Amino acid sequence: MELPFAESYKIKMVEVIRRSTRAEREKWIQDARFNVFNLRSDQVFIDLLTDSGTGAMSDRQWSEMMLGDESYAGSSSYYKMKEAIRDIMGFEYFLPTHQGRAAENVLFSTMVKKGDLVPGNAHFDTTKGHIEFRRAEAIDCTIDEAFDTQISHPFKGNVDLGKLEHVLKSNPAERIPMIILTVTCNTSGGQPVSMENIKAVHSLAKKHGIPVVFDSARFAENAYFIKMREKGYGHRTIREIVREMYQYADVATMSSKKDAIVNMGGFIGFKDPELFRRASLYNIMFEGFITYGGMSGRDMNALAQGLYEGTEFDYLESRIRQVEYLWNRLNDLGIPVQQPVGGHAVFVDAKRFLPFVPASQFIAQTLVVELYLEAGVRGVEIGALMADRDPVTRENRYPSLELMRLTIPRRVYTNNHMEVVAVALKNIHDRKDSITTGYQIKHEASLLRHFTVELEKI
Ligand SMILES: *Cc1c(COP(=O)(O)O)cnc(C)c1O
Repeated sequence: MELPFAESYKIKMVEVIRRSTRAEREKWIQDARFNVFNLRSDQVFIDLLTDSGTGAMSDRQWSEMMLGDESYAGSSSYYKMKEAIRDIMGFEYFLPTHQGRAAENVLFSTMVKKGDLVPGNAHFDTTKGHIEFRRAEAIDCTIDEAFDTQISHPFKGNVDLGKLEHVLKSNPAERIPMIILTVTCNTSGGQPVSMENIKAVHSLAKKHGIPVVFDSARFAENAYFIKMREKGYGHRTIREIVREMYQYADVATMSSKKDAIVNMGGFIGFKDPELFRRASLYNIMFEGFITYGGMSGRDMNALAQGLYEGTEFDYLESRIRQVEYLWNRLNDLGIPVQQPVGGHAVFVDAKRFLPFVPASQFIAQTLVVELYLEAGVRGVEIGALMADRDPVTRENRYPSLELMRLTIPRRVYTNNHMEVVAVALKNIHDRKDSITTGYQIKHEASLLRHFTVELEKI
């Protein structure tokens, strides 16, 4: 018999979590105004809100914490992080930031101005927020296949080169400060970008003299999919694939809370010393001196170690196979999920799951609340709430996909937890025909409203 797969780590420290009753959860979600961001974490049994900063650090990362150098300038931790970034991604210059959106803030302050256009593949919400905040426009050039959850395409994060070329040809280059390639593409379902597509985007960008920025939060998971799914990469190591990917990037913004497996941290990688110099000014203003930028020395140490662990094949295989485990169970149970499996999360197609809830009543959010009530599992909406209003017309934007994202933290839960999630969704699916109404907004912020929105049941 072939031996089954098992994780390439064992558990040295545990954290107690608590189940609750449905009656408790009904009260808690009401008090949270039906926004799961307002729940207390101890009101949640299995927390699949995000994989951002929620991973479990290794014994080696914790050891590195003890070796942190907290000097204000020129700490050894800064140099350790610099060495890891150069080694793994090939960037000679970098700025530490406290997380990914801070990297965006510093970089976009340097490069993006009012009236600019920033094409890319389904920009992440904070990325889009930082672009629109500067009165510039994010243009989504993702391939059409990404918008049909039932089509199985190995690289649904890919850029449609025709769409991108159209943007580049029909606008002056001065209005396009960068092209953003998100690897893997969070918004379209944790879907990877192929090496072939990365190369093609890069050569199109060079033809028009435009820099390519990788939004790198899940760069290692992207490399894993290239290894598993793209012809010619099966025998390459993850690190070799990562190095090749970054040959085609001019700049990288990184949320280290994802593939560097730390609880807080980020950075910007640069090839151009002049751009690095200009961005340093904003880093000092917003984040801190250029050798710590909002991070403590111990955190920079853990991050450097995390970059090495996060690019090991055995780790990535354990991680992505757990995501796949949940994805397989949901498929078996007839739950409509995004095809094929993505890197960090399973995306449930809420429109197919709840066909009787109108789009104006926030379909995916309705499913998120149902799942919480059923089993104390916290997922997150990627739908009309997150899509926000059009910055000009202020009308609600209704995206083509209404998704509930079940995001798996790194090295945190077991497959028994995944099993609870699967059965909870099955129970809801069995009574889906009785769920016909959703929610309306009582209060919302003018930007990134999904974090703080208050809802009431219709
Ligand atoms: C998480 C994330 C960000 C923002 O990073 P934070 O660390 O949460 O500020 C940007 N882009 C992508 C693709 C992300 O997943």
